[in-house]
Amino acid sequence: MALRFFNTYTRQVEEFAPLDAAGRTVKMYTCGPTVYDHAHIGNFRAYLFEDLLQRHLELRNYTVQRVMNLTDVDDKTIRGCQTAGMPLADFTAPFKRAFFADLETLRIKRADYFPEATDQRHIDVMIDMIGTLIARNLAYQADDKSVYFRIKAFPDYGKLAHFNLDELQSTGRNRNDEYEKESVGDFALWKAWDEVDGDVRWESPWGSGRPGWHIECSAMATEILGPRLDIHCGGIDNIFPHHEAEIAQTEGVTGKQFVRYWLHCAHLLVDSQKMSKSLGNFHTLRDVLAKGYSGRETRYALLRVHYRAQLNFTWEGMEEARVALARIDSWLERLRVRAAEEENIEHPTSNIQPRRGEAFFDALDDDLNISAALGALFDIIRETNRALDEGTLSSTAAGAWLDWWKRVDSVLALTAAAAELPAEIAELTAARVRARLAQDWRKSDDMRDQLAALGWEVRDTKDGQKITRRSGA
Ligand code: AMP
Ligand code: ZN
Repeated sequence: MALRFFNTYTRQVEEFAPLDAAGRTVKMYTCGPTVYDHAHIGNFRAYLFEDLLQRHLELRNYTVQRVMNLTDVDDKTIRGCQTAGMPLADFTAPFKRAFFADLETLRIKRADYFPEATDQRHIDVMIDMIGTLIARNLAYQADDKSVYFRIKAFPDYGKLAHFNLDELQSTGRNRNDEYEKESVGDFALWKAWDEVDGDVRWESPWGSGRPGWHIECSAMATEILGPRLDIHCGGIDNIFPHHEAEIAQTEGVTGKQFVRYWLHCAHLLVDSQKMSKSLGNFHTLRDVLAKGYSGRETRYALLRVHYRAQLNFTWEGMEEARVALARIDSWLERLRVRAAEEENIEHPTSNIQPRRGEAFFDALDDDLNISAALGALFDIIRETNRALDEGTLSSTAAGAWLDWWKRVDSVLALTAAAAELPAEIAELTAARVRARLAQDWRKSDDMRDQLAALGWEVRDTKDGQKITRRSGA
């Protein structure tokens, strides 16, 4: 099946073909965090969807060139450093570090480039772009000394967000980085220095000031990836005004279509409202880890719903993630044990076809249909577990399913790290699975006692043994 994505620009599912003449390289830009605080898990839902997208493209043999920017100067970071009474760079540095640590905890692949908006190289490109827009009459310096994009001069303005510019009452100019559709107006490209900006200022042909948030992304994207991108992602709140403005600025300069496919993920909700800093209803990854959940459990909980469907965050959802992962873990453990055994079935009756495993990848080809993909995975787990119970799964078939899992996991990245179980405990649990397969119940019970003495509790369930560290141990 061909790879297909829902394109926000056309509001249609479209077959994917990269711009690259050889059809292999994919240029992808993803709006990164505004580093004025710790990212919340709603932000990470967006980054996890992008990670799934990148990993699936790579599984399908594309080479992804990916940029994720860090917004380290904008209205929010300036407000934050003023309140903290710190220089901007000192204020944002710990949030940058925390962001990279969180990416690792959630097993999100690192982008090839993490440009920072305050880098003088990028500021220079922003200034160049603004100069070109002014020369083309697409931008102007207003009485307040700031430079604005003239939206009426760009007929395509509004095409991404799907509104008709003629029907909108323009409110004139809007200096804020973020605003609602009701306040649509000429947006700021360069914001003249204002005393609330303190010492955050750069020199420009229009006087000292700082860039608007939107021009930062246009400059960093085109500087690193060139004038045209295959894929640009973000959460749906980025569609307007941020991405709409990115199109106007970039196409205003290059005269070329900026982005071929726009992909946006729906929000992570809490009690039916968007999880956001401004509503105060957010959890950071640290909050979730402090409740005893792991990075991979959080990864699963945030990935398991299709990216275009809203996902409600609940602690029950975290428990479900834990149960699902334990199921995968014990299935893998059983397969490993079986694959390591001598072939001892003369006529394996298992009719489980490895081809069936392709259903997982086909589902992801279909606009990253993760729910269908996970459905296929759990069907296979159920059937192979049954065959293991009945002693009809050959050790060759067990090995084939482990190979299949390697491909699946190159996309999901959910295999338990070996470090999660101390070696001695991992060895004892594996030996106990072998004892149980050999129906040596006494040995199995002895091992349960040994594990208990070491502080680990084993429970036998229909999906295999579950091992947990006893609280207080
Ligand atoms: P920000 O740091 O606010 O610029 O947001 C970074 C990314 O997170 C953007 O792509 C946003 O669209 C996305 N985002 C923000 N809140 C949520 C949420 N509740 N659910 C999903 N994505 C979000
Ligand atoms: Zn952006």
